[in-house]
Amino acid sequence: MVMSHDTIAAIATAVGEGSIAIIRISGPDAIARTTAIFQTKDNFEAANTHTVHYGHIVDPATNERVEEVLVTIMRGPRSFTGEDVVEIGTHGGVIAAQNVLQLVLRQGDVRLAEPGEFTKRAFLNGRIDLTQAEAVIDLIRSKSDRAFQVARKQSEGALTKQIKPLRQQILEVIAHVEVNIDYPEHDVEELTSAFIRTQCGMALEGVNRLLKTASEGKILREGIVTAIVGRPNVGKSSLLNALSRSNKAIVTDIPGTTRDVIEEYVTINGIPLRLLDTAGIRETSDVVERIGVERSRSALEDADLILFVLNQNEPLHDDDRELMNKLADRQVVVILNKIDLPKQLDTSELERLFPSERIVQMSVQEEQGIDRLEQVVSDMFFTGGIETNDLTYVTNVRHISLLERAKQSLTDAIDATNAGVPIDITQIDITQAWELLGEVIGDAAGESLLDQIFSQFCLGK
Ligand code: GDP
Ligand code: ZN
Repeated sequence: MVMSHDTIAAIATAVGEGSIAIIRISGPDAIARTTAIFQTKDNFEAANTHTVHYGHIVDPATNERVEEVLVTIMRGPRSFTGEDVVEIGTHGGVIAAQNVLQLVLRQGDVRLAEPGEFTKRAFLNGRIDLTQAEAVIDLIRSKSDRAFQVARKQSEGALTKQIKPLRQQILEVIAHVEVNIDYPEHDVEELTSAFIRTQCGMALEGVNRLLKTASEGKILREGIVTAIVGRPNVGKSSLLNALSRSNKAIVTDIPGTTRDVIEEYVTINGIPLRLLDTAGIRETSDVVERIGVERSRSALEDADLILFVLNQNEPLHDDDRELMNKLADRQVVVILNKIDLPKQLDTSELERLFPSERIVQMSVQEEQGIDRLEQVVSDMFFTGGIETNDLTYVTNVRHISLLERAKQSLTDAIDATNAGVPIDITQIDITQAWELLGEVIGDAAGESLLDQIFSQFCLGK
């Protein structure tokens, strides 16, 4: 266990969140410094671990009662940080918490914690591994319930569980190669090459599997980028409004009023969508409108999902055809809007390009078909395999780049083996892959990497 010589303190609850605030203190002096300002009928300094004590925080300089509090004592190593931890709960809100914190900090040998420092200590004391620590960052940031669940799963070490066997496979190769270098006989070399190919091949498959879930992880945190496209006046803004039940987009009868891309976050059956309402995509001479059209083109290119809106009260337009052909190989839901009006649209061309279960009849105005649209969107999402429970989602940019590099090293090792490159040279790539995977779970983490990661935390975590 790494003993920190100093004691840190911070407010652990988010500012303005509820009426209870927690001041967290961790380190060798946590209990003694609290005892100095805590008036209670209990013998606090000798109290058992994981017990809660009622009393008052008192300013020792004036002997004045500052706050009525509940104080929890958790002795190391059975605490979150692995050190002695005290949590002072006040119900007086932010100001009261600030007063108590100031008093704690005035006791000497206690300093304000840096962002993420509690979690960093937990990591250094072996209470959590690096992927768990990073999952705490995601917990703090995650916007939707599903993202929250993924972050929690990861914090239980699921990613570590998947990485460890991959590293083991690579380690076996390294051990094998060491033997081969000591006994360089021809048939041993043959066998070793075959062994490298199969073991590295399996590890590579595992890395690819994790990378494949990486894009899904990103989706869960940032929302599926969803572009609403279609000619002017077909009902795009109305649809955005219906889905978000807000009035942020301007709805009007004049074609081309949606000048810019308007964004809205919505959740459909627990799936976060980032909705983009685009200006009508068409050639135009109007300068302001053209800027909007440009932006909608790029929004369209970046989108994970496209809601293609048509007015079924009008025949198919050449602009519709142009869009249709652009969208043919994308994830598209076709929305035939305004079914409250007579049908003028021949849908046969659409039906040739898009599967019928992804063509939805709607009247946004009459609020018809929205349920069906939501069903289609969630079906598309879940058939992508995202619902599978035992999948580990890689949700972190740092993880992804390490996995990409490990993938490269493994690929290089396999290629070199196939090309008959001497094994002691191939071994460099293999070792590198092992180290890179180790970095994902924190085994090879240097101090600067740690600082980089933990600086992303909020204060008090
Ligand atoms: P956008 O240009 O594609 O964003 O279209 P808007 O959402 O601004 O809608 C254009 C016009 O169509 C507005 O007057 C809407 O009220 C109207 N509209 C939208 N949806 C429907 C619908 O389902 N039925 C009918 N009759 N009118 C609609
Ligand atoms: Zn609009």
